[in-house]
Amino acid sequence: MRAIVIDKAENGTTAKLGEFPENALMEGDVTVRVTHSTVNYKDGLAITGKAPVVRRFPMIGGIDFSGIVEVSDHSDFKPGDEVVMNGWGLGETHLGGYAERARVKGDWLVPLPEGLSRHQAMAIGTAGYTAMLCVLALERHGMTPDRGDALVTGAAGGVGSVAISLLAGRGWRVIASTGRAEEADYLISLGANEIIDRSELGGRARPLAKERWAVGVDTVGSTTLANALAMTCYGGAVTACGLAGGMDLPATVMPFILRSVSLLGIDSVYAPKERRIEAWARLAKDLDLDKLASMTRTIACDEVIPAAHDILAGKVRGRLVVEI
Ligand code: NAP
Repeated sequence: MRAIVIDKAENGTTAKLGEFPENALMEGDVTVRVTHSTVNYKDGLAITGKAPVVRRFPMIGGIDFSGIVEVSDHSDFKPGDEVVMNGWGLGETHLGGYAERARVKGDWLVPLPEGLSRHQAMAIGTAGYTAMLCVLALERHGMTPDRGDALVTGAAGGVGSVAISLLAGRGWRVIASTGRAEEADYLISLGANEIIDRSELGGRARPLAKERWAVGVDTVGSTTLANALAMTCYGGAVTACGLAGGMDLPATVMPFILRSVSLLGIDSVYAPKERRIEAWARLAKDLDLDKLASMTRTIACDEVIPAAHDILAGKVRGRLVVEI
């Protein structure tokens, strides 16, 4: 079968679109004909080898997919069922989604939520589902739009674009932080009310600064997250899900101990199944599908490797769906 295979090389790793023997698929009780995948930031790291995402070689890339069940020994799934898969080590320790077939554990799969096509599910993909996990975490923390504004960093990226749309749809006034001023109209069309340049959050953070937002969805990390925390209003909360700007966090404890600000960590990979089902159900209900379409571009398998380089260079707007 056709697949994008990441393998070890003398200096790092290589990624190539080629053939992979179907009988070398790993163990699992469900075999899926993959129809769609996506390119997320982590796929960029895996394909370029810029971070040690892949922990088994050879690896089929792709941290998520949607598709149709072909064979199932799992009681929840039968041939013909449409499914979504993301996380659980797919594309990292388990052969991933950039292939015509995938064999996985049925316990990892989520039934395609009603109201979404397989293409739309991958337009959401890991990035959009993570944006939803962030919104759910803020809600569980009791955050409501009457508390103040919502900051989204890395706004024109995948997580950022979906987060803006979700937060705006729930009634939040959204402040979008971006390094791409030329994307202002795009961000406003998704629901952003105010655009700020990422440089405003880029320098070394003061322990505390003027309170500007009640909540934040941060995809950037490093000084951006430190500044976001220092500018969060009393009792507010910021979700940390990304490291597009760096994995460090040069902050002080002052926002936590003087303003009761909370930092909520978000992991999508090993999120329990109940939370995934909740997130996908909420995405199917809450996300404006016209906005989703406007933030999505569809590409072919042979465009994935260049796209992986582009996403790390911050050149991808919104979401990319891969037709397998
Ligand atoms: P993406 O589409 O590339 O979005 C990242 C955005 O961050 C870029 O579009 C850019 O937005 C901004 N950015 C890039 N480089 C930057 C830099 N050096 N300094 C400041 N801002 C920068 O990636 P994504 O798929 O949405 O993922 C976003 C982040 O979330 C990644 O770090 C990814 O690994 C992480 N993530 C984590 C989880 C999890 O389970 N925790 C799940 C999904 C994603 P602007 O051009 O608008 O500034």
